[in-house]
Amino acid sequence: TNACTNALTPRPWDLADLSNAIGCDAVTVWGQKTVTDVKRAVFKGISTDSRTISPDMVFLALAGEHFDGHNFIPDLAEKGIIVFVVRQGYLNTFDLNQKRLMDKPRVCFFEVPDTLAALGRLARYHRMRSNARVAALTGSNGKTSTRKMAEEIFSLHHDTLATQGNLNNEIGLPQTLLRLADIHEWAVVEMGMSNPGEIARLSAIAKPDIALITNTHGSHMQGLGSLDNVARAKAEIFKGLNPGGTAILFADDPRLEILVQGARENPTTGSVMLFGTQSKSDVRLSEINTTDHRITFSLTIDGHARQYALPSPAAFMAFNAAAAAALAKAAGIDETDIAQGLEAFVPVKGRMRLRHLDNGIHLIDDTYNANPCSMNQALQVLNRLAGSNRGIAVLGDMLELGDQTQLHHRQVGHLVAALSPAKLLLFGTQVAQIREGALEKGYPDAHIVMGSKQELAQTLKKSIKQENWVLIKGSRGMTMETLIPVLEEIP
Ligand code: ATP
Ligand code: MG
Repeated sequence: TNACTNALTPRPWDLADLSNAIGCDAVTVWGQKTVTDVKRAVFKGISTDSRTISPDMVFLALAGEHFDGHNFIPDLAEKGIIVFVVRQGYLNTFDLNQKRLMDKPRVCFFEVPDTLAALGRLARYHRMRSNARVAALTGSNGKTSTRKMAEEIFSLHHDTLATQGNLNNEIGLPQTLLRLADIHEWAVVEMGMSNPGEIARLSAIAKPDIALITNTHGSHMQGLGSLDNVARAKAEIFKGLNPGGTAILFADDPRLEILVQGARENPTTGSVMLFGTQSKSDVRLSEINTTDHRITFSLTIDGHARQYALPSPAAFMAFNAAAAAALAKAAGIDETDIAQGLEAFVPVKGRMRLRHLDNGIHLIDDTYNANPCSMNQALQVLNRLAGSNRGIAVLGDMLELGDQTQLHHRQVGHLVAALSPAKLLLFGTQVAQIREGALEKGYPDAHIVMGSKQELAQTLKKSIKQENWVLIKGSRGMTMETLIPVLEEIP
């Protein structure tokens, strides 16, 4: 290409790159100019966002729940975008008489059966032409926390690209990999899933050199049925492992056998590593202590034990730290760097983040998401920090639990009754089952308030004088974080 390459920005694309990656040629060219003109052009990258795209980028049209990217194409062509990736048949439905397009020079299209798959192919091509090695992780819980910890460790001495926020699905992962630039030595990427087959597709795109499964708890059961199936679906991550790559598993996982089998099913898997509290672990976790507002633990790596402390009240963070350390060990990063990286870790917003507000309120902000396992842990943490029979639990629905929904909410109710926080505030529809469960086990109805967020806000304001520890938690769709300002605004 005639583009000057810059180590800091992703390598540009020319038409040949695009054809090679997508697996077909650009099919149609409009206007007076010929395909040769386009052939000379180079593009800065691939965009799926019609709002932020610039003329030096390729537009790939995704059809989502709310928007269909194809609808924006005429406008984008007018704005100067010249290459589009569209679904098969789009050009037939396109109004060829659109005058404004006919006048445009150089507009060309790649027509593909599935534009989401094409995004994956582009990302895979880009990943394969980059110098970076890829460390990928999936799991039911702890993906984002582990990724953040690993990012801290890897970035100490390597230019590292990492997943931002929660961009870990079939759109987010390709977008992440497409940001790879020549400077990057490592990419640390998360993979999320809700259905079988997804992780296999993501892994085929990322071709990880190291692949880790944090754990296989019962999240996202809706599309999967049993926990064994959850484990099998996560183990798909090893299908895409680069030859000789390292598979890393949680030694304490009840479904370890399935995971090991998944790792071994790929004949080119290099080594299998373990992290956890079991003595066979390559990164062994011990002495987990959570009596303080922070957590301390010990990690033994290559026979050498070291003490760690993390600014989180949650025991599970120690497991995530062990996972991140295992990723780093597999990458050849030494133990002092692992320690330094973990020290720099700050829990992700909304993820068991402890905040001591100026007005004396202690907030356990776990509003980012919820499932039965994390709900249990969060309630235990509230109990431990606030004291028994103290504290306010503000809970929203746990979504995506399929036919287990009622059961899991009821069980949360049972735990609430056992731990007996001073108040239980509930928002949503499924939470009615939490209430039922709590009442069933003798938790007083007078301590429960179920209602709108406004009603909960009123109750919070009233109750905060007696109780200054508050846990807020619910599934992403419940946006429980909108209750945080209520606490912040209390004088
Ligand atoms: P999501 O799929 O919702 O994005 P995630 O896998 O990225 O989640 P995190 O954001 O790290 O996970 O943590 C989410 C919640 O899961 C935490 O707040 C905590 O309640 C729970 N959790 C995190 N790590 C673990 C773990 N190792 N074991 C059990 N539960 C965990
Ligand atoms: Mg996440």
